[in-house]
Amino acid sequence: MLQVKNLSFHYKDNSVLKDVNFEVGIGEHLSIIGESGSGKSTLLKLLYGEHDLDQGEIFWKNIQILGPKFNLVIGYDFMKYVAQEFDLMPFTSVEENIGKFLSNFYPEEKQERIAELLEVVELTHFAKTKVKTLSGGQKQRVALARALAKQPEIMLLDEPFSHIDNFKKQSLRRNVFQYLKQHKITCIVATHDSEDVLGFSDRMIVLDKHQIVGNDSPENLFNNPQTPLIASFFGEFNIIEGNIVYAHQLKVVPNSNLKATVKQAYFKGACYLIEGNLGGKTIFFEHFEELKPGTLTFLEYSK
Ligand code: ADP
Ligand code: MG
Repeated sequence: MLQVKNLSFHYKDNSVLKDVNFEVGIGEHLSIIGESGSGKSTLLKLLYGEHDLDQGEIFWKNIQILGPKFNLVIGYDFMKYVAQEFDLMPFTSVEENIGKFLSNFYPEEKQERIAELLEVVELTHFAKTKVKTLSGGQKQRVALARALAKQPEIMLLDEPFSHIDNFKKQSLRRNVFQYLKQHKITCIVATHDSEDVLGFSDRMIVLDKHQIVGNDSPENLFNNPQTPLIASFFGEFNIIEGNIVYAHQLKVVPNSNLKATVKQAYFKGACYLIEGNLGGKTIFFEHFEELKPGTLTFLEYSK
């Protein structure tokens, strides 16, 4: 397994992580979440050995991951890392990019492997296309396929679907995470998108103020968010009588002592998100139909 013990790291005068501890089992999928600037990308880079730690240790099985002070070449064979800014070979084709790290010794196997990966990232029709002519999202898919090519033991993904449009995102996410699970590849994803986490991660850690403030299954963190930060990752919420209450947990009822006046309704597809005024404070709840501004509603919540 991957073990991170007492890890601390800073850039010049900017402390990023302080005494961080966690473990990831073999084949497990972990997501790292946190606000922009909370250190998600830095943590992935440290796991990859891109920087030297101030303090602490990282182990994969019994191999210690070391930074540039101790390693001439950054990175390890058993690990692949897809950075937020992926670097591909722009003047060569999609298939050549994907096959970059595959041996030419078995040309047939290499071709088969590339074909399989082209399917995973849904780029079969672009095999011969030069990378420089692709869109940002297509390039990101090539980078993913290239990282998968040599079947790493650990995959580090930084905002892996951030450039990919909504039309492709859903199926691509399923393909990539399914592929990783099938091949028992340990996966660590940094993301700010809850859809990358729910339904795909076995566990998630939450970074805030240089530390881990949550480490549990997505279900547990969703159902029992300990802090507003964690709740805000999953959706709109309110604090009512000291409880964190998601918008979807509030229901309009014929009568109650939570009386809100509608300010605005936002169409969300499956429902409307209603912004209301509850004793001078803003409240968010969901409703199956649009409510006009000024409507008086009674609300009730259940956990
Ligand atoms: P995230 O990925 O969660 O948005 P980052 O790990 O990129 O966060 O950044 C964490 C903090 O470290 C931020 O304050 C950022 O400005 C700073 N930082 C990131 N990279 C560097 C760098 N190469 N040099 C100095 N500061 C950096
Ligand atoms: Mg980042």
